[in-house]
Amino acid sequence: MRASAYSLIDADVAAALVLEHSAVLGIEPVHLGDCAGRVLAEDLVADAPLPAFPSSAVDGYAVRAADAGRTLRVVGESAAGRPFEGAIPDGAAARILTGGALPDGADCVVMVEDVQVAGDTVTVPAGLRSGTNFHKVGDDLRAGDHVLSAGTQLRAAEIGIAAATGRAQLRVRRRPRVALMSTGDELVEVGKTPGRGQIPDSNRWALLAALREAGADVEVLGIAPDEADPLRRLVVDALERADVLVTSGGVSVGTHDLVKPLLESLGTVHVGRVKLKPGKPFTFATLPSPLAGEGGPPRSGRSDGGVKLAFGLPGFPVSSLITFEVFVRPALRKMQGFAQLQRPTMPVRLGYDARPTVDRTEYQRVTLRHEGRELVAETTGSQSSSRLMSVAGAHALVRVPAGDQGLKAGSIVEAMILALP
Ligand code: AMP
Ligand code: MG
Repeated sequence: MRASAYSLIDADVAAALVLEHSAVLGIEPVHLGDCAGRVLAEDLVADAPLPAFPSSAVDGYAVRAADAGRTLRVVGESAAGRPFEGAIPDGAAARILTGGALPDGADCVVMVEDVQVAGDTVTVPAGLRSGTNFHKVGDDLRAGDHVLSAGTQLRAAEIGIAAATGRAQLRVRRRPRVALMSTGDELVEVGKTPGRGQIPDSNRWALLAALREAGADVEVLGIAPDEADPLRRLVVDALERADVLVTSGGVSVGTHDLVKPLLESLGTVHVGRVKLKPGKPFTFATLPSPLAGEGGPPRSGRSDGGVKLAFGLPGFPVSSLITFEVFVRPALRKMQGFAQLQRPTMPVRLGYDARPTVDRTEYQRVTLRHEGRELVAETTGSQSSSRLMSVAGAHALVRVPAGDQGLKAGSIVEAMILALP
C-alpha cells in the first residue's frame, strides 16, 4: 500500500469541477418515434393554427344559430376526414360527426340528443347560440405561438404536440456515448459460478441501468483485468468512439489499482479523492481528443468540446452508485442540455438520528413514508459501502454534512428524491 498523492477535495468543489468540464453536446435531427426522453435543442413555434379548420366537438347537426326552432332539410354529412363539400343552403342542415369540419354557412352544432329527426328533416331547439359545440381555428394554438422551449425533455405530450403541428422530426441534443468498464481480477460474468475469491460483476449492470436512466448511449466494455497494458489498450480503443469513460474499481491505493495512473498518463486528473462517504476514491479526469500518442505529452484537458471525460468510480457497489448520482448523472444531463441537472429535493422529517462523519459529507440512503402531510425518512439500515441493500428500495438520499453535529431525529431536511413511495 502507498499513501495517496491526491489531496482530499470537498464534495461540492469536486462536483462543480466536473460540471465546469462538461460541455453541451451537439444537435441531431431525430424522428419523433425515437424522441422520448431526449432534450429539445430548438424552440418550437406553430407555423399554422391548431385546429387548422373549425371542427365539431360532438355528433349532431351543423346549422345556423338564426334557424333556431325551425325544421331543416338535411342536405349531407361532414364526418372526420370526409368534409361536406360546398356551403349549407338556407333552411338546411348537415349531419356532422366529432372531428368533422364545420361546413361553410353553418355557425353552430346542435347535439344529436337535442334534435328531432323525421325522414330527411331535423327540428332544432329554440335558443341556439352561434359558435357552440365546435373548436374554432387556432383555439389550441395560433400561428406564431410558442409551443416548446429548447431544453425541454420530450415526453408523451410534448411529442404529441410536435406531431400535431406537423413536425415529423425534431432537433435534439445528442446522447452522450459512454464506455462502461469494470476492473478487477476477482470479477466474473454474472451467471457464471464464481470460483474461490471471485464475485459476479454486479457494478456493470447497476451502472448500465443508471447510465441509461440518465440518457446515455452505453457501450459495455466488460471486465478489464488488473494489468496496466490490457487496461490501457481497452480504454484507448473505447475512447475513439466514446465521449465519456466510466470505470468501476481500481481507484483506491492498493498496488493493483491502476485506473488513476492510467488516466494521469492519458490526460489530466482533476479529482483524485473526495470528502465524500461513500466514495472517497472517486476520480475525475479530462482526456484530450484525440488522445496524445503513446509516450507523447498529453495535452491539458480544457472544456473545449473536444475533451473527453473519465470517471473512475470506486469498486464498492454502493460507492459506485452514489458517486454516479453525485458526479456523473449531473454531468450527463448537462451534456444533453437539460435545464435541471440535479434530482428534485423535498423537505422530509428525519425518523432517525443521522450520525455524521467528521471529515466527509455523507449521503445516507433512506426510505420515505407518508405520515399525515409529511414525508418521514427512515434509514435503510447499515450504510456500509459494500451493502447494496442500503440502496435497493431507497426513495431518497439525505446529505449529512461533515462535522460533529449530524442531523437529529425529528428535524426537517431537504432530501434528494430518487423515487417517491
Ligand atoms: P476496488 O475499488 O477495485 O479496490 O474494489 C473495492 C471493492 O469493490 C472490492 O471488494 C471489489 O471486489 C468490489 N468490486 C469492484 N468491482 C466490482 C464490480 N464490478 N462488481 C461488484 N463488486 C466490485
Ligand atoms: Mg479492484
